[in-house]
Amino acid sequence: MAAKITKGRKRPERSFTERRLGFKLITVITPQQFLEAFLQEKAAAYAETNVRLSSIHRKYFGAPVLEDAGAFLLRDPSKAVTEDVKQSNGSAIVITREPVLNTILRERYHLSADGESWKIIRMDRQCFACRGTGRFEESACSQCEGEGWIHRPGKPSDVGERS
Ligand SMILES: [Zn+2]
Repeated sequence: MAAKITKGRKRPERSFTERRLGFKLITVITPQQFLEAFLQEKAAAYAETNVRLSSIHRKYFGAPVLEDAGAFLLRDPSKAVTEDVKQSNGSAIVITREPVLNTILRERYHLSADGESWKIIRMDRQCFACRGTGRFEESACSQCEGEGWIHRPGKPSDVGERS
């Protein structure tokens, strides 16, 4: 919120409540900051896991599979960038875009205000079948039932892994 510039006369002293509110508005974390912090922490955890997975792969995988072992590692979640943020009273929706293999993965996070920060209360992934349009030729997409988004967790196998 931009500070109001008062012309001509001195701005009246604000009440204690207004000062508190003003302070809160300044220090509250934005939905984008919150989500980026989440992705950074998740990326750090995935990187640690990948170190352990790599040593397991070297131990168990043989020549052809070992060459493609990178495909069995967790992808870097911090490569996702914020594409859109919509915020209303006490809630927000953040859409991220992330290049995965030869396509773009979009995820939609529903946030609920929690003190001066947020909590993720729902996650959706953009439907790959209809690319988010909700339509497949002349009818509604059967994968997402015309929503364009698929509520997560969907299939447990597609959470986190690259392929
Ligand atoms: Zn669809």
